[in-house]
Amino acid sequence: MNRIILLGAPGAGKGAQAALIEEKYNLPHISTGDALRQNIKDETELGKFAKSFIDKGELVPDDVVISIVEDRLKKDDCKKGFILDGFPRTIYQAEALAKFSDIDYVIDVEVPDEIVVDRISGRRMCSCGKTYHISTYKSDTCEKCGQKLYQRKDDNQETVMDRLKVYHKQTEPLIDYYTDKDKLVTIDGTKSIDEVFKSIMNILK
Ligand code: AMP
Repeated sequence: MNRIILLGAPGAGKGAQAALIEEKYNLPHISTGDALRQNIKDETELGKFAKSFIDKGELVPDDVVISIVEDRLKKDDCKKGFILDGFPRTIYQAEALAKFSDIDYVIDVEVPDEIVVDRISGRRMCSCGKTYHISTYKSDTCEKCGQKLYQRKDDNQETVMDRLKVYHKQTEPLIDYYTDKDKLVTIDGTKSIDEVFKSIMNILK
């Protein structure tokens, strides 16, 4: 089965790769970041609670994201597999996940910090899910759907540094955690989106 975790720093390209895997393998793309942002947009209680953590580049408390993922994985479309993007981010989350689902692949998309900072501070988003970088895309509307692009509030240089610190301290230990479980595969995330996707297809086949 293809029950996949995409690990990696913010800006490693997990979201872009998850979208490609979703399309090719017909698996649901589950992003806790997207789920939290949707709650913020809908002004739910959960969104109001999560916003202060997200804006500061901190992690939202474990139990909040664990229950989002646990509920989502119960849905029928997850029976044949799924892609987790941005979850788990702590050992505590990984241990909770292990209680409600098995995992087949943990793919660590490796990118050095300098590249992360450049990618994230130049990243522009479209609400259709497509992302761009200002160095290679000059328009302010999406080429796919025509909507206006925007910058995520937490995609500024200062918050990126905080998110990287959080990543190294709280999420990176998952590399050893999943290596010990013989699940981890590391790929070079500095390559082009297509090349990274090729490496992922080689792993999943
Ligand atoms: P992302 O879109 O994955 O970069 O997530 C954006 C923000 O949402 C993160 O910086 C965290 O504040 C929060 N978040 C997303 N996923 C998690 C998670 N698994 N655990 C805790 N916080 C999360």
